[in-house]
Amino acid sequence: MFDLMDSGGHESVYLHRHAASGLRAIIAIHDTRRGPALGGCRFITYADETAALQDALRLARGMTFKAALADVPQGGGKAVIMKPPGAFDRVALFSEFGRFVESLGGRYITAIDSGTSTSDLGVVARHTRYATSAAERLDPSPWTALGVFRGIQAAVQNRLGADTLQGIRVALQGVGHVGYPLAQRLQAAGAELILADIDAARVQRAAAEFGARVVQAAEIHRQECDVFAPCGLGGILHAQAVAELRCAIVAGSANNQLADESLAQTLHARGVLYAPDYVINAGGLIFASLQYNGHTLAEIERKTRRIGDTLARLFERARAAGAPPLRIAETIAREVLARGSGEAVVSAA
Ligand code: NAD
Repeated sequence: MFDLMDSGGHESVYLHRHAASGLRAIIAIHDTRRGPALGGCRFITYADETAALQDALRLARGMTFKAALADVPQGGGKAVIMKPPGAFDRVALFSEFGRFVESLGGRYITAIDSGTSTSDLGVVARHTRYATSAAERLDPSPWTALGVFRGIQAAVQNRLGADTLQGIRVALQGVGHVGYPLAQRLQAAGAELILADIDAARVQRAAAEFGARVVQAAEIHRQECDVFAPCGLGGILHAQAVAELRCAIVAGSANNQLADESLAQTLHARGVLYAPDYVINAGGLIFASLQYNGHTLAEIERKTRRIGDTLARLFERARAAGAPPLRIAETIAREVLARGSGEAVVSAA
């Protein structure tokens, strides 16, 4: 375990088991130089403990970079709860998880993630002060969608030289909590939508509402379009999928879109502009952090909209350096972390 932590540069890993509720949870804290770690709590089935630990470590590290580039006063952390194989009492399990989070005294603040809902976080928040997303109105997804929308505008401006999304063709994978409000914004801005989702009823409903064309889930990344927006699961851009893309831009909300980070270079070589996932999808983190720290909705909206400006400067800097935007994003995140607290400045120089 320490070798894994050494290679990722993680500060701490906490484990907790509770026989009565069946809770088996891992909290990974990557870096707290800029503030307490904030990150979601994932509740899914893992093949084994190693897979759960690796997921927690990888996601916690991603949150550090995301917070640094979004310029929020948080470090990176993530929790994973291994979903019990048999029957379990959900309230008992999330209550115990809340006590676990509380026992860390604020080093880690939890939030919604894959497999958890705002009502689960409501249960967690009864047992700890260090929880966000604890009611439906605190769902970060619409804010993530706003940030992705701004990011798509910046990418279209940079790659296609267009100041509007009128007539821009977007292939959107996944019309869930983020994909749906994103589709709404894109349609209102005049984009033409092609949609896919493994949930047939959901995608038909969205297609009818937005006048969109539907394609099979396996076909969406192969559509000829301007923007491919992955808003389903991570890891969908493996080598073959990248080779099959027929778009100018990849810009979506999914975490860890690239199955392997070296594919950022492949996309760059193919002339596909890739908006780094942890930069474009930071709206939810901005909402969670600023809301938790008592900021107004107007301030949250202003900062979320700035994701578009950050990406515009990032793309410019990447262009000047002849490098993939992902590499530039990492360089900037490291610069910000080395400085500790303070504003993340993404200059074009
Ligand atoms: P969600 O579960 O509400 O929606 C995901 C949708 O994608 C579902 O409708 C699902 O059926 C569909 N889907 C899954 N696999 C698919 C596939 N192979 N092809 C087509 N459709 C597929 O999740 P969400 O909250 O909308 O999040 C979407 C992505 O964005 C996730 O990767 C998540 O980690 C990431 N993300 C979300 C937030 C947020 O605020 N919700 C913040 C940052 C990142």
